[in-house]
Amino acid sequence: MNDKKERDPSQLPSALNNFSELTSRFGDSLPLIFLDFDGTLAPIVEHHADAAITSEMRELVKKLSQKFPLAVVSGRGLADVSRKMNLPELYYAGSHGFEISGPNNFSKDHQDAEKVLPIFEEIEPMLKDRLEGISGVEFERKKFTLAVHYRKVRGQEENEVHKIVLDTVKRYPEITKAEGKKVIEIRPSIDWHKGKAVEFLKTELSRENNAFSIYVGDDVTDEDAFKYVKNNLGILVGEHGIKTYADYKVEDIDEVKLLFEKLLKWRNE
Ligand SMILES: [Mg+2]
Repeated sequence: MNDKKERDPSQLPSALNNFSELTSRFGDSLPLIFLDFDGTLAPIVEHHADAAITSEMRELVKKLSQKFPLAVVSGRGLADVSRKMNLPELYYAGSHGFEISGPNNFSKDHQDAEKVLPIFEEIEPMLKDRLEGISGVEFERKKFTLAVHYRKVRGQEENEVHKIVLDTVKRYPEITKAEGKKVIEIRPSIDWHKGKAVEFLKTELSRENNAFSIYVGDDVTDEDAFKYVKNNLGILVGEHGIKTYADYKVEDIDEVKLLFEKLLKWRNE
């Protein structure tokens, strides 16, 4: 944990307009870069499965990864996010870091999370059955999480979705739920999140003790990285409706691209 304070996203300085101040925070070190996927590299879409990164963005991330140690950290399952990125040379943390992979067949699953897998086998058919009457609910099973998407559910029925999911989850102390943008994510109740995944990846990506890092993300789950990771600059993309521990902001994905271009230029100078 560091000593950062929460702020309203509107109070954050722009990462683009304050870029030289931002880079002065790196000191003498080459920062590690951690990137969220949805809403940061790929636009949020109505159908979660349809999200895609443009070839332009993929090319930029590839260039960045050749100049900075870099990893993609996502709530998506590991197989899903690495397939969508299609850059096999990168490190990935999927399911908020419960599963991690990297080049040269590097792979690590969270041991305690594996023990919870049978519960997901049990609750998935149970929830499908209980939510059958509400149209627009979509399930996304990843190895270590079950996401219940309700973006397409009629407004007045959203509460019912929450009620049913909560009622099911509270029967099992081994699992818990987390809220995202129009999604409820059921996951192992283990104290593990994107911030801890980043701390772990830092030890993989750098020989330095406590290397400096940049984390770019748009969602509430990225706050765990902004808040928890030491020696880190948090850059929030857009707004997520709550206060933030980020240090800077960019407005949208187009500004993420501009930020990457600036970082590449800085590195080449
Ligand atoms: Mg996101």
